[in-house]
Amino acid sequence: MTQSREALTIMAESGPTFSKAGTLAVPRWAALLAAAVFVVSLVVTGLVVYSLTSCPPAPASPDEAARASGALDAAGPGGAKDKIDVRLPRSVRPVSYEISLLPFIKGNFSFRGEVAIILNVTEATNNVTLHAHELAVDESSVALTLQDVDASTGVPLGRQSRDPKRQFYVIKTKMPLKPGTYRIKLKFTGILSDDLQGFYRSSYIERNVTRWVAVTQFQSTDARRAFPCFDEPALKARFKLHLARPVDMTTVSNMPQQRNSTRVDGVPGYVWDHYEESVPMSTYLVAFAVTDFESRRSSMRNGTFAVWTRSEAVDQAKYALEIGPRVLEYFEKYFNIRYPLPKMDMMALPDFAAGAMENWGLITYREIAMLYQEGVSMTSNKQQVATVVAHELAHQWFGNLVTPSWWSDLWLNEGFASYVEYFGVNAVEPSWLILDQFVVSEVQMVFGLDALQSSHPVSIEVGNPDEIN
Ligand SMILES: [Zn+2]
Repeated sequence: MTQSREALTIMAESGPTFSKAGTLAVPRWAALLAAAVFVVSLVVTGLVVYSLTSCPPAPASPDEAARASGALDAAGPGGAKDKIDVRLPRSVRPVSYEISLLPFIKGNFSFRGEVAIILNVTEATNNVTLHAHELAVDESSVALTLQDVDASTGVPLGRQSRDPKRQFYVIKTKMPLKPGTYRIKLKFTGILSDDLQGFYRSSYIERNVTRWVAVTQFQSTDARRAFPCFDEPALKARFKLHLARPVDMTTVSNMPQQRNSTRVDGVPGYVWDHYEESVPMSTYLVAFAVTDFESRRSSMRNGTFAVWTRSEAVDQAKYALEIGPRVLEYFEKYFNIRYPLPKMDMMALPDFAAGAMENWGLITYREIAMLYQEGVSMTSNKQQVATVVAHELAHQWFGNLVTPSWWSDLWLNEGFASYVEYFGVNAVEPSWLILDQFVVSEVQMVFGLDALQSSHPVSIEVGNPDEIN
């Protein structure tokens, strides 16, 4: 996940820095005084700690007690209960999705959705199992049809059930499905939660008015919180989105809008935005946002390159907009593979869990990672913006175009993007000599991580969502 990578970048960039020119000289009396204060505070701290720890210990929880006795150690972190197979059955694979989502961003923060998925059944099975988490699926709306060349035939359905541990929704069929093409359709509702995952809500204050945004963060396993789907990176499919919004807000997604907006029947003040179908991609790269942000645009080889921020910050996105298209074009030449989408949008969000997220065609950033103000921000902020922008643009190839089949090999995404980001920055800011920083910023940091007891192999077996994160 980009979270760890970008979070580390941010920590490194905002932490204390030392330079040769920054040495500090103090008089001897001040040094002695400081030393005396240090010794006294050390003694006081020791006494306080002693008096606190001599209290009787609080009773341990059953888990803590078990862990202390070694009972849970054999099962590893989280205990034996986590060792379940969380992978989807391989008999059904998605080909394409058509998703409609109506978020009540100016209402009760719920959303209504409908998804139709074209499926390829590769071997006989008696169920369709997909991911759905914290969504209420309307059981009566579920319909499965066999897609013949000239007609579609309904398939009688049996029991539908949830498997909360695996975050599965299981739809049994009354007769086995033979290999072939099917279409499943279902309706559902969900909540725009405020926990920065899935399809979530967030707010900011501008000119004393609270403004709401609804936006997504799906990596690693949170697309399933926005719509029922086959939420594994190897199960790539095409996505076609219809996203509703209040008339005075705007939406953005991975692809450009296809046609004019249309009215939402029965919901006054809302319209549908219709998006073009995407290239085949993993669910974790799907993204969309409903905001009242402003944008600035420039052009690139095959379309537009835009930046989006809250209106008061839009001037601070100038630098990201200046370097973004140049880095993208540099990578096209460097990899000798064209960027396959017809546009790029980058959005700075006031509330964002990761440092940045490389959603294909709609990269989302924490504000600090995309905004820079000449004469106000630090030079190191400028370097951070250039680095994170180059990193996310590198992911458009490493991760988005070529994707590890499972999260165990996430290093293929992050390792390569973290390496070539240096070439991207060097291409647009050659005077910084950023390649010379690689050993200090990256190699030394890796040595530091590798020296910890918590260090683990580059490729590591992961199963449930917590382990993946
Ligand atoms: Zn990354």
